[in-house]
Amino acid sequence: MTDYKSKTGKNKCSFCGRPENQVGFLISGLNAFICESCSEQAYEIAKEAMGADKKAAGPFKLSLEQLPKPAAIKSHLDQYIIGQDEAKRYLCVSVYNHYKRLLQNTTNEDDVEIEKSNIIMVGSTGTGKTLLARTIAKILHVPFTIVDATVLTEAGYVGEDIESILTRLLQVADYNVNEAEQGIVFIDEIDKIARKSDNPSITRDVSGEGVQQGLLKLLEGSIVNVPPQGGRKHPDQKMIPVNTKNILFICGGAFDGIEKKIAQRLNTHVVGFGAAQQSAQVDRSNMLQYIAPQDLKSFGLIPEIIGRLPVLTYLNPLDRDALRAILTEPKNSIIKQYIKLFEMDNIRLTFDEPVFDYIVDKAVEYKLGARGLRSIVEAIMMDVMFDIPSEDKSEYHLTLDYAKKQLEKANLSRLQVA
Ligand code: ADP
Repeated sequence: MTDYKSKTGKNKCSFCGRPENQVGFLISGLNAFICESCSEQAYEIAKEAMGADKKAAGPFKLSLEQLPKPAAIKSHLDQYIIGQDEAKRYLCVSVYNHYKRLLQNTTNEDDVEIEKSNIIMVGSTGTGKTLLARTIAKILHVPFTIVDATVLTEAGYVGEDIESILTRLLQVADYNVNEAEQGIVFIDEIDKIARKSDNPSITRDVSGEGVQQGLLKLLEGSIVNVPPQGGRKHPDQKMIPVNTKNILFICGGAFDGIEKKIAQRLNTHVVGFGAAQQSAQVDRSNMLQYIAPQDLKSFGLIPEIIGRLPVLTYLNPLDRDALRAILTEPKNSIIKQYIKLFEMDNIRLTFDEPVFDYIVDKAVEYKLGARGLRSIVEAIMMDVMFDIPSEDKSEYHLTLDYAKKQLEKANLSRLQVA
């Protein structure tokens, strides 16, 4: 007796039981039949199940051999960022290890669990912290976002809740939670949430310590309820739970004035007679290279946060040579960008070589840093960019005299940051 025959002796679908005269057609198997509508449904179910499977396995699909090696990541960074070798190496290793940790989570596990090493980068403003983060983001195979710590406040105060840091990551991952849970977050201006005084105070420090406590929860790995649209949480908003265990956090900050704390610790004085004896060992022009976790504590980060950021690195101040290189060498250097702009109007833009040194001189003189380079070039080029597209020219050569004349007219001191 078979169960694929109807009472009338006709073949029937083994799934819905309809006989062959009531369906479009039957597909026969070994001991069963399936009708066209059941097979369609089966296909949908299979598709969905496979999709869910893929999601559960995570989006990280590179194999160990395919992983970009630290040296390869660094040579990519080198094309865009001048110097900062120390910070680059730390970043590359951390990102590589992050990949490895993700791989470990998808492959067979033994007892050794690789824990994440969040990073903190300290360096004056305009030395390339954000640029590093942005550049590395382009070659990553996991979601990446940059958030600004200055907008964060403790729950209940005006500003954004700490959980909103993860909203951006969710958005980049197209709200795929599994994918977001393997991402990397760059928290910029972390120094702005430092406690205002080193003394754990009697009064609560709303802007600083509370936010740090909140951040701690994210850094150490826990399930956090994230508002999908960001901003403030409110009762009717449906929260998305996100596990931060595998999210790598990279923090950056200028930590203005931390040099003094480093100097104090090293028992040197930034100025004074005592310094002369010590200067043989200590390069006082770049105190950041001696930074240690306790300096972050003196600056106002709570020890728990420092403990969750085990990789500490620094960026060097940009000297003349670095500024000169930044102007022309990176793959999308400022000068290359102007040449491109002119190219779009079919004009070949060239410069007198000394123009570049002159621009750097001015940036140093007015303490404008790397960001100022662009303002200076902009000031020099403004009139040319206004006139030349409507003239019938195929070339433009910028001379030193012209650059000087334009800059004098532009009144550079106006560009200075207060
Ligand atoms: P930070 O985040 O440290 O304040 P940014 O990364 O925003 O500084 O740097 C500001 C700008 O200065 C960058 O967009 C870039 O044009 C330039 N710049 C700074 N440092 C470097 C560097 N090391 N190499 C190339 N360009 C740099």
